[in-house]
Amino acid sequence: MTEKITFKQFPLRQEILCALKKKKFDNPSPVQIQVMNETNIMDEDLIVQAKTGSGKTLAFGIPLLNTIEQIPTQPVILILSPTRELAIQTAQELKWLGSEMTIKVATLVGGMDIENQRRELLNGPALVVGTPGRVLDHIRRGHYRTEEIQTIVLDEGDHMLDLGFREELEAIFESHENVDRIWLFSATMPKQVRELSKNYLTHPKWISLDQDLTAHQDIKHRVYLVPYQHRLESLVNVLLWEGPEKALIFCSTRQETIECATFLTEAGFSAKALHGDMTQRERNSSLNSFRVGITTCLVATDVAARGLDIDMVSHVIQLGLPGDLNNYVHRSGRTGRAGHSGLSIALLSNREASHFRNMFSRSSLKVEWKPLPDQAEIQLK
Ligand code: ADP
Ligand code: MG
Repeated sequence: MTEKITFKQFPLRQEILCALKKKKFDNPSPVQIQVMNETNIMDEDLIVQAKTGSGKTLAFGIPLLNTIEQIPTQPVILILSPTRELAIQTAQELKWLGSEMTIKVATLVGGMDIENQRRELLNGPALVVGTPGRVLDHIRRGHYRTEEIQTIVLDEGDHMLDLGFREELEAIFESHENVDRIWLFSATMPKQVRELSKNYLTHPKWISLDQDLTAHQDIKHRVYLVPYQHRLESLVNVLLWEGPEKALIFCSTRQETIECATFLTEAGFSAKALHGDMTQRERNSSLNSFRVGITTCLVATDVAARGLDIDMVSHVIQLGLPGDLNNYVHRSGRTGRAGHSGLSIALLSNREASHFRNMFSRSSLKVEWKPLPDQAEIQLK
């Protein structure tokens, strides 16, 4: 067996090595190695594509923190995330990474008290992590000096360049004229991103590790054919049959998540919903209770599809179709992370199944098709 590469082999400051060691992270993941090996990294715009759960947060976090010379009193790095939950998670990860350097991180997300966030900004954070709308709000109120920001990272970059964020992003870019580098990270980088990125990035360097995302080795795929009218009863059967440690269940609408979570609760499961009509306090409470394992079924819209890293999610279950292949990859990628294995299940009607087959006809996705287990089988198990 070949010797594993260690973090110690890279020219990293002691404080970072110490924080990694405390976390028992000795070996960098492939994407982290590639980014750290990039010699001109600080002089380049970057587009990095690597599979879900492969450690992209630290792949940008480590080199960025490593080059902070003096602990700044104004933010020098801005990281943008498509959802509040992801921004909060990323801020947490960078906080522990920077803990030995006394780096402060401000988290600017919508739905939370803006005055508290202003106080965080007054406290001299080196990093700002946030969602575009709220970050822009702070910029317009003059709450931090945008001139000092040298790096902007767009996590889930392909999604950030989607139509939904375009106006806010443009306004943010316009107010950060001194930026030296823009970095895009995601598992998926559709071709259109190449075009779109030309508007914002200058001759970006592409680092692409895992193009065939349907071949993620740690995620297995299974489809159960279920009658559309009875999909919630079918879901209960599938949960009883599969016995997941934790299941993240995706629905296509907010209303559906509420109905599904209520149905599961009445059937005796510990289930909670997560969707955009909830207050941020309720959203945080649902997610945190799932993170610690009090809730074993989190029923979510696509607000949970990207970036979230939750321990022990053994099953991702999709009720109905995922929208497109990329969305399927991101939803499925909430399991099988950091070397653990996971199962991605879709519950589809016959009609949906034929769309599903078309969607994946040109991919290498290997799917196990299963009939729904009935009560007798479940009881025998
Ligand atoms: P991605 O953004 O690629 O989906 P994350 O950055 O969320 O992945 O990382 C996935 C998980 O792997 C996180 O729990 C993270 O703390 C962990 N992780 C990252 N790098 C390492 C490493 N070098 N060794 C062990 N675990 C790691
Ligand atoms: Mg990520």
